Amino acid sequence: MIPESFIQELLHRVDVVDLIDGYVPLKKAGANFAACCPFHNEKSPSFTVSPSKQFYHCFGCGAHGSAISFLMEYSGLGFIDAIKELSHRVGLQVPEDEGRRTHDGPKISGLTEVMARASKYYYEQLKRSEKAINYLKGRGVSGEIAQKFGIGYAPEGGQSLAAAFDDYGAAELQLAGLVGKSDDGRLYDRFRDRVMFPIMNQKGETIAFGGRLLGDGKPKYLNSPETPLFEKGREVFGLPQARAALRDKDTAIVVEGYMDVVALAQHGVGNAVATLGTATTATHVQKLLRQVDRIVYCFDGDAAGRKAAWRALENSLEALPEQKSVGFVFLPEADDPDSFVRNQGTEAFERLIAQAMPLSEFLLRELASHCDMTSAEGKAKLVAEAKPLLGRLQTPLLRLQLVKRLAEASGFSQPEVERLCDLRPIVRAAPARVPRQAPSLLRPLLRLLLQKPELAKGLPLGALAPNSAEARAVGYLCQTILAAGEPTPPYAALLERLRGNEDEGIFREAAAELMQQPFAEEDIDAEFDGVVHRLLEAETRRTFEVLKQKVAKLGLSGLSSEEKQQYVLASTTSGRTTELNRSS
Ligand SMILES: [Zn+2]
Repeated sequence: MIPESFIQELLHRVDVVDLIDGYVPLKKAGANFAACCPFHNEKSPSFTVSPSKQFYHCFGCGAHGSAISFLMEYSGLGFIDAIKELSHRVGLQVPEDEGRRTHDGPKISGLTEVMARASKYYYEQLKRSEKAINYLKGRGVSGEIAQKFGIGYAPEGGQSLAAAFDDYGAAELQLAGLVGKSDDGRLYDRFRDRVMFPIMNQKGETIAFGGRLLGDGKPKYLNSPETPLFEKGREVFGLPQARAALRDKDTAIVVEGYMDVVALAQHGVGNAVATLGTATTATHVQKLLRQVDRIVYCFDGDAAGRKAAWRALENSLEALPEQKSVGFVFLPEADDPDSFVRNQGTEAFERLIAQAMPLSEFLLRELASHCDMTSAEGKAKLVAEAKPLLGRLQTPLLRLQLVKRLAEASGFSQPEVERLCDLRPIVRAAPARVPRQAPSLLRPLLRLLLQKPELAKGLPLGALAPNSAEARAVGYLCQTILAAGEPTPPYAALLERLRGNEDEGIFREAAAELMQQPFAEEDIDAEFDGVVHRLLEAETRRTFEVLKQKVAKLGLSGLSSEEKQQYVLASTTSGRTTELNRSS
């Protein structure tokens, strides 16, 4: 691990405006800078960089981050390489103690070279292996396509890679996942007798391999383990090769296997990519939606395929910005994209993709398939099961669509569905009702904390009722800030710590709002006090409402002694309670 203190120091030294301006010319726009977004196609600039807060946000596609994430996304660098690159620019030395992974000596940059050399070696071996060539020919793969994807062959021997590397025992080979070590300390090639598919990052550097076994045995498909270069949940196979076609078609087709990607490319469908032995993650979705407006998941029609599609759906919900869409295609039983395109041809396949089932339809169908839609209970169950999914959607239009369809399917009215699903408006404008904790207060609180993280130290615990995603997000943010110790990290540094949190989307939204409407520095403490005051008041009222209902039902004797105290206090001195809470 690179020490947090170093990351803070680095972000302090680097100016995100200078950095980005070197890649994308920025224009001053009020307090911020703007440009057409480098991560999605657009004609008017919605990509905004905040010089004071040192982060960028695209109001079009949702791209968001610090100088570190900009370099990662723009140049396809890994986290550590991005830090190295930035350090180099500002003349900082990355601390030698880079973490357990690299204690043994090997360096990340060395791993990239190792992978490049292995890739070249496998590629050359393919020409010498008749059975590998026959396998590819049998699948209809031309030499041109094999070259485009850098397909190779790992020979059968136990230590074939020794021919490509002077030092077969070098720690880099093991760290890169190419060489394994048996219990008795013997070294062996991880990939043997396999057709090799290099997995490349956006820069086109090989970061991992997928290998398809030619002989009998198991497993039929083997991927590199996760390494400092390769994180499965982030990478997709075929991305650099698909780039031009993605831009052309504005659609990414996500399939299950690398052979599917290759076969589709062979038939002129260049915009397919595959996830790597893992479900489609929200990171995958975000990554693809930066480049295209539409993702179509193309899976087998069997139970496993539908399960994979459902997980893709779940992970797409939160990552799906306005104006982007997701569709699903299920192939006929016993077909995969490879066999389908070979038997039915390119046009038939393109037609399937064009007519993909919209997300809303797939969602409803799947839910309805395990509810008895002929009974009232079944229809109610449908709505109940849709509730958590609807709550995760960030796009008002799609949510409205789904609510409408849910209403049709369930026989409830649209407002009833909204109420049952506890849906609050996504665009936060109207003040929320008590007794639910007002998100209208939590939003500004989040913005305040992001603008001045030190404030976390003054937030009374009693102000937060943990009954909404916003409250959870505020709680997590405070924990993160307090755990970071002194000096309190600014937002750009916090961003790196919040990466991957389930409420990352909420933080990003709040930061984007902050970018447009920052609090004046001289007002910020007073604003904070005001919000906390109102939160505590609302919380007192909420507690009181809950207790009042309990009393109405059970009488005063239904309350615990602690509750009784609260009840009396709240009913008599609701105005002063907040003061008490604050001073305690
Ligand atoms: Zn964008």
